[in-house]
Amino acid sequence: MKHYDLIIIGAGRASNLAIKASKLGKKVALIEKSKLGGTCPNKGCVPSKLLIGYAHVARAVKESSRHFVDSTINNIDIQKIFEETNNYISKVDPRYESRLDENITLYRGEAHFIENKVIEVDDQHLTAPKILIATGTRPIEAPHEKAWTSDDIFPFNKEIPNSITIVGSGFIACELANFFDAIGVQTKLIARGDTLLRAEDEEIRKIFTDEFSKNVDVSFDTSIKDISYENNSFDLVLENKDGTKVNHKSDALLYATGRVANSDTLTLENTDIEVNERGFIKRDEFFETSVNGVYVTGDASGYHMLQHAAAYEVNYLGKILFEDEEKPLKFKYMPHAVFSEPEIASVGITEQEAKEKGITYVASTTNWLASARAIATKLEYPRTKFIINPHTYEILGCHMIGPESSTMMHQVLSVLHIDNDIRHLKDMLYIHPALSEAVLPAAVNAVSEAKKFKN
Ligand SMILES: Cc1cc2nc3c(=O)[nH]c(=O)nc-3n(C[C@H](O)[C@H](O)[C@H](O)COP(=O)(O)OP(=O)(O)OC[C@H]3O[C@@H](n4cnc5c(N)ncnc54)[C@H](O)[C@@H]3O)c2cc1C
Repeated sequence: MKHYDLIIIGAGRASNLAIKASKLGKKVALIEKSKLGGTCPNKGCVPSKLLIGYAHVARAVKESSRHFVDSTINNIDIQKIFEETNNYISKVDPRYESRLDENITLYRGEAHFIENKVIEVDDQHLTAPKILIATGTRPIEAPHEKAWTSDDIFPFNKEIPNSITIVGSGFIACELANFFDAIGVQTKLIARGDTLLRAEDEEIRKIFTDEFSKNVDVSFDTSIKDISYENNSFDLVLENKDGTKVNHKSDALLYATGRVANSDTLTLENTDIEVNERGFIKRDEFFETSVNGVYVTGDASGYHMLQHAAAYEVNYLGKILFEDEEKPLKFKYMPHAVFSEPEIASVGITEQEAKEKGITYVASTTNWLASARAIATKLEYPRTKFIINPHTYEILGCHMIGPESSTMMHQVLSVLHIDNDIRHLKDMLYIHPALSEAVLPAAVNAVSEAKKFKN
């Protein structure tokens, strides 16, 4: 049996904790069955956003006539796009490995629990007083052996398809569909329901769905009834919910229909660690599982499924374990973005949630046309929606749709972080005529709605 101070299973965001602990002189075992760095830099956030960079440029050229620029795309070197992205991915694992020092023993294998505090990896048994499970998630398996998931795109080592069908309506499906469509691959998105991004604020998601569908061919209320694969191509039978069926041919088929927990790889049945009905590991507010000294952070707990949440949690767990932090982590807010065309950023509750929960609120939606930089984009759809408590001026939710929403949202996040009162966004000084200035009328309008509510 090998003894450590800390065992970490899963070298995604949790690899940062290994480094922190080792700097404090702790002996750490870091176990990873795939690539160091985990999903975000290898198969998730980073490579998918690298692709979005190419999509943006292609869209700008395609839509240049809006600015009276007559241009055509002669060629998009898709091979090169994937080569560069694959090249980035190939450097992630060595870069992470180079950060590990002599206090960290790296095990490249799948970890299994033998008992509560004993882990087996590569026929070796390890134990430690503190164990962190940070094993993340994987895509739901595609129902056909030739079909892909996002894991097959990162890295991409296949024939570039002329056409692709993507199944799903969440952010991964939309981001990938936007990319393939923008670079000229004939793309169809299959959505089971009548909308995309179901979890977003209804008003914002309607704008998103309308604008997105202007570029990408989306079949709503549709599912795939039959899949056959012959001569390097899929023959799909698509069925609308009204019962009508159509045949659709596609070189590639990609499923982005959700993610499942990797906890099933851990043989948790040998322990007292509890999981919920979806396989996510249960924990208390200090990240501790039902076994003392065994912790879980990030996607493995199923809470936020976002890189910034996983990174923040790991960092905070470091404070609990090594800096005597006694308070539990309570996220004041949890923002997210969809890096597609259009781009969405969102934080807090949606209007439908406010209604469902019977929360007293006022909502105000404002276009961006008060900002000259926004006018210059010649886009009419961008909006900022605030949902606020009319008595306290607290921001309960903010939802943006428009170019660089994810960047614009950060000024709202600063207020949420420091002193949640929308009047700061009304009173602060903005650079004229920056895109961010579009937040000013949105805040002014929301405050005025709150005043009307009170009178
Ligand atoms: C296509 C895509 C795009 C995304 N885009 C964004 C985005 O724009 N913004 C955002 O915030 N989030 C995004 N995400 C989500 C983000 O990647 C995750 O929330 C984040 O990576 C979770 O980090 P983690 O450390 O919890 O888990 P992971 O990074 O998934 O790390 C878990 C690690 O554990 C390893 N592992 C699992 N089981 C075992 C075992 N038994 N033994 C040993 N090792 C094991 C895995 O191999 C993996 O390396 C995206 C995800 C995908 C798939």
